[in-house]
Amino acid sequence: MALELKSVTKKFGDFTAVDHLNITITEQQIFGLLGGNGAGKTTTFRMILGLIDQTDGEILWNDEKISYSKSHVIGYLPEERGLYPKLKVKDQLVYLGRLRGMKKNDVIKEMKYWLERFKVPEYANKKIEELSKGNQQKIQFIASVIHRPQLLILDEPFSGLDPINVEILKEAVIDLKERGTTILFSSHRMEHVEELCEQLCILQKGKTVLYGSLAEIKRSFGKKNLNVNGEFDLTFLKDINGVTRFQRLAEGVRLQIAEEAVAQEIFKHIQGKGFVRKFEIEEPSLNDIFIEKVGTSYE
Ligand code: ATP
Repeated sequence: MALELKSVTKKFGDFTAVDHLNITITEQQIFGLLGGNGAGKTTTFRMILGLIDQTDGEILWNDEKISYSKSHVIGYLPEERGLYPKLKVKDQLVYLGRLRGMKKNDVIKEMKYWLERFKVPEYANKKIEELSKGNQQKIQFIASVIHRPQLLILDEPFSGLDPINVEILKEAVIDLKERGTTILFSSHRMEHVEELCEQLCILQKGKTVLYGSLAEIKRSFGKKNLNVNGEFDLTFLKDINGVTRFQRLAEGVRLQIAEEAVAQEIFKHIQGKGFVRKFEIEEPSLNDIFIEKVGTSYE
């Protein structure tokens, strides 16, 4: 099972919001769609869901076009949250579950499971408007998964959640993946993407600037971070060939180096200068990569 976007383009008048986008997401995969504000993420989701038509290209789910008849296999957490403020959580979820062809009892069973999981079992009989924004978001998430969709699309699922709820939601997403769900989500928070995604695509102004597995993207970036801490002045390291960034930390320094071999050179330079507490090569973070790839041509 897979979701495939083949050369998908969306124009609004003369403006191209999504430009020849190619994405393949296989079953049980968590795929991250990243990009700055206005990059085209929400527009892409809306096309996948059939809420708007693409101008060009093809979107396939299991080799077939996505149509309204597939809506029961898809779950969507929209960026603009849209629950009925006056309805009780239970009534809201029963209504949405029924729309997707579920029996009332099954909805209640799933609802109980999820409310327990989110540690808010007492919310079943509360009205949406009585809940805080973050808690409304949890209910909206439950609404998007209550019918056990095969494909789950989450637009900025972590925004507005406190760190504890972020962790609960991350675990839920990983469990859903393990149950076989294909998950596509967007986020501005690189650390969430790094923890959850196996594959990702970075969009900029509708165009793909990076695509692939997280491991491969990191490997091909080439640059690494090197953390050094020693009981002597390390400032001279910034002038060594191949050091592309120098940052002082509370303890020691963090260097960005052009390739791993530069670390060996640096090691030679610090030998004999004094006691070295730490010498550690780190993979670049996704944040480092995003800033370099998107930031350099950011207007
Ligand atoms: P954000 O991270 O800020 O939510 P995004 O990546 O989700 O951004 P989109 O909402 O997909 O971005 O918007 C992409 C571009 O398309 C933006 O420049 C936006 O102004 C434009 N756009 C989106 N919808 C429409 C529309 N209905 N009519 C005209 N332009 C639109």
